Amino acid sequence: MLETGRLHRYNTLADAPSETALLEREYADWQGAAYCLACASGGQALQIAMRAAGVAPGDAVLTNAFTLAPVPGAIAAVGARPVLVEITPDLVLDLEDLAVQARASGARFLLLSHMRGHLVDMQRLMQLARDLGLVVIEDCAHTMGARWNGTKSGNFGLAGCFSTQTYKHMNAGEGGLLTSDDPAFMARAIILSGSYMLYERHGAAPPAAYFDAARLDMPNMSARMDNLRAAILRPQLRALDGAIADWNMRHDIVARHLAKVTTAVLPRRPEAEDYVGSSIQFRVPGLAPEAALGLIDRLAARGIEVKWFGRDVPQGFTSSHRNWRYVAASDLPQTDDILSTLFDMRLPLSFSCADCEVIGTILAEEIDTCREVAA
Ligand SMILES: *Cc1c(COP(=O)(O)O)cnc(C)c1O
Repeated sequence: MLETGRLHRYNTLADAPSETALLEREYADWQGAAYCLACASGGQALQIAMRAAGVAPGDAVLTNAFTLAPVPGAIAAVGARPVLVEITPDLVLDLEDLAVQARASGARFLLLSHMRGHLVDMQRLMQLARDLGLVVIEDCAHTMGARWNGTKSGNFGLAGCFSTQTYKHMNAGEGGLLTSDDPAFMARAIILSGSYMLYERHGAAPPAAYFDAARLDMPNMSARMDNLRAAILRPQLRALDGAIADWNMRHDIVARHLAKVTTAVLPRRPEAEDYVGSSIQFRVPGLAPEAALGLIDRLAARGIEVKWFGRDVPQGFTSSHRNWRYVAASDLPQTDDILSTLFDMRLPLSFSCADCEVIGTILAEEIDTCREVAA
């Protein structure tokens, strides 16, 4: 790619497909979706999905109260109003609160975030969404490859949004992927991404006729992926199923150690869920903030970096709704209570299984010493 200099996705020779178009075709096939659009970032995939779905300025968009900043950020970027929904101790959307918030806000859209790789009961969620008249867009930044009852996350709602930045399941530095089975929606999304009317050069796009309705009405948001990123991603996609198995091996080793600690609670993994264990979460219920900070310090002293979601001030990636001042403040006692004793650790594949045994042992030892503090 560097030698040819043909880095822009539409800078191709004659009819040769670009790396970006090839990635779109291959990702659509892997995901089991009809259409795929490669974007500049996961956040851009979310923004494009919402606009293509018809979210208008001022509209209420429901989303998880516990998610990463690009999710409420994307809602704000399209001029809409995030309405935060409580989570359960299993870190997924609280469906009872979803119904309450949907009725109170009159929202027609749900940006469902499968935060930290935990899937809500998708059967129940989709039934509830139908009852409430909600269009569902899935944020699959942490669930690329995860399934519920055999169906891949991203294939339940109108669209699935994925990120390919460094901390996700494929790494191109930055990047995003948007998938859908809806041809009219995807035609609008492709025009929105900034296709300069070259939409026929896409790899997994709907037939040209679908673009007639969209081509002059959708603004250009210039959020394309480039060929270099696509070239970096294509071999990773071929290796992804193997990487998922490797993550789960590491996750399950650490989880086995944590399960032995009486003070630690792991989120439930329902039978229907096939997860991708690229990170692990645990709670230490009853742990006071000072004790939580002490735990993090002791772990850091032994070489283990763990994130705690109970901090007042954002540190690193922000996931506390109180740090999003552009979102109307709401009372979320259940979510706050869960986050106050929630810890998280990424499990990159640079950790060997032997590393994970050591990590699990140290985590278990240090969390176990919290027993007196928590009691
Ligand atoms: C990373 C992430 C995104 C998208 O992030 P980008 O940095 O824009 O690619 C969206 N949602 C969640 C939960 C994420 O962690």
